Amino acid sequence: MESPPIEKTPGTRDAANMTDYADMRGRFSWDDARREVDYFDGGKLNIAHVAVDRHVATGHGDQVALRWIAKTGETTDFTYAELQAQTNRFANVLKSRGIGKGERVYSLLGRVPELYIAALGTMKAGAVFCPLFSAFGPEPIHSRMEIGDAAAVVTSSRLYRRKLKKLRDRLPNLREVFLIDGEEDGTHRLVPLMVQASNDFETVPMDPEDMALLHFTSGTTGKPKGVVHVHEAVVAHHTTGRIALDLKPGDVYWCTADPGWVTGTSYGIVAPLTNRTTMIVDEAEFDVERWYATLAREAVAVWYTAPTAIRMLMKAGADAAKAHKFPNLRFMASVGEPLNPEAVVWGNETFGMPFHDNWWQTETGGIMIANYASMDVKPGSMGKPLPGIEAGIVEVTDDGARELTEPLAMGELALRPGWPSMMRAYLHEDERYAKCFRDGWYLSGDLAMRDADGYFWFVGRSNDLIKSAGHLIGPFEVESALMEHPAVAEVGVIGVPDETSGEIVKAYVALKPGHEATDDLKLELTGHARKKLGPAVAPKEIAFRTNLPKTRSGKIMRRLLKARELGLPEGDISTLESDEQ
Ligand code: ATP
Ligand code: MG
Repeated sequence: MESPPIEKTPGTRDAANMTDYADMRGRFSWDDARREVDYFDGGKLNIAHVAVDRHVATGHGDQVALRWIAKTGETTDFTYAELQAQTNRFANVLKSRGIGKGERVYSLLGRVPELYIAALGTMKAGAVFCPLFSAFGPEPIHSRMEIGDAAAVVTSSRLYRRKLKKLRDRLPNLREVFLIDGEEDGTHRLVPLMVQASNDFETVPMDPEDMALLHFTSGTTGKPKGVVHVHEAVVAHHTTGRIALDLKPGDVYWCTADPGWVTGTSYGIVAPLTNRTTMIVDEAEFDVERWYATLAREAVAVWYTAPTAIRMLMKAGADAAKAHKFPNLRFMASVGEPLNPEAVVWGNETFGMPFHDNWWQTETGGIMIANYASMDVKPGSMGKPLPGIEAGIVEVTDDGARELTEPLAMGELALRPGWPSMMRAYLHEDERYAKCFRDGWYLSGDLAMRDADGYFWFVGRSNDLIKSAGHLIGPFEVESALMEHPAVAEVGVIGVPDETSGEIVKAYVALKPGHEATDDLKLELTGHARKKLGPAVAPKEIAFRTNLPKTRSGKIMRRLLKARELGLPEGDISTLESDEQ
């Protein structure tokens, strides 16, 4: 909380979609927000209609909706009219194969155009879309397809052969497998089906409460949950895209998240299209040079990324960024993990604007707390609740949930349910779902504080809180202090059981290039942390790692650091990505 606020200029404020937070918060209603999206007669709607068809109907068919950058660097553009035609064709393919309303259509694909066409075409047909990370192994794929009762899947012949084929016996309800390339027994080639299909399709009008998307959580704290979202979620996707990401029609927008993670769908497919931006999709994985070149060449105006990527850019040094110019860049945002103040300040120094941290979850379907284009940024804070969202800090005891209103009281971050993109269920886990609600609050499972100005500050996951010698310590605070040291690229902090203190703070540190993992450096880091945090909160132990275990959505898996430290079972590691130690 030490870095001074980054103040916005009057020019920046006035140019934002939301010029005055307090004023808009006072005036906002979800009913007004509903009027911003197109409903069909009888109060029906469809996410894909709001995302694609209505823009063609209003004369924007020639605008590029999706610019796809292949791994090779070659680009392919899809206008809104082309996207409409392709998604209509896909909806017709589903219909011709008897995939009906409410049935689940999965994708197991890299970031290729077919993924985006399948997502929107599925929803047009009234079916439910469920994206999976293409890098998942067979077992995570099986469990997710079983939970969601997959009726169809769109995939590639390579992924089919390597992962899906052997699961077919165990997925008796999976009727249709569509391959975007190649040929395999027991599957359909998608291309000829798409060629035969008509360009015309009457998008199915859905009830606002009909299920549209099934998303699995990241698995950071345990077994992933299947989260159900409905068609009316689009009202929140659209509004939050406009207010929290400052999306404007015609903007070039790049969300770096894969649709296998909710960010890559809510803000990597739906919100950018409903707001009629041109969205950039890069098939390739993270690469410092490629990312800077993409931001510059594509003249990206709004960029939505994640702390892990930002930390990797920081690790590569500001000079790599400064070798490029980004005159069109207007707004940068981050989500998924706490964003260290260091990273916000680095963004400001390097790009001339801060990264705007925002907070939400698979369960909330859309951004709930954010830093806005028109609002001063306090580095390290998640910002303030969106207009239409009431957030509180609550204390949960056997007697119920009680709101803590005094500034900087620490408690569970909770929300008053009722916004359109709120989850409607954890699929087949009613009890777990019911446990999220208490005394009119939805309990997020995260710990946070609110300061006197109404800014929210992330403390940690409630499971990650460290209790050491009478102190409650959030890992984020310790991680952020260590991140300020020039040698540190990445940190994960956990509590390790200790006879005298209950727990002691232990930090796992990955270093920037050019720094050696020596005992001297450990001492230096300890000294640095003590100075910043005081001896009670600073880590008692530091261990060096070349890499920290992360989920595929880029979150540090502290529970895995802990399980390994204690020699305990690793639990569900279906979403584990990098695992070098
Ligand atoms: P699982 O629920 O399976 O353990 P997960 O919670 O990581 O996985 P997601 O829904 O992808 O799954 O992530 C939401 C969580 O990510 C939040 O509850 C929070 O802990 C963390 N998070 C997201 N954004 C931020 C942020 N800006 N600051 C701090 N933490 C964040
Ligand atoms: Mg979660």
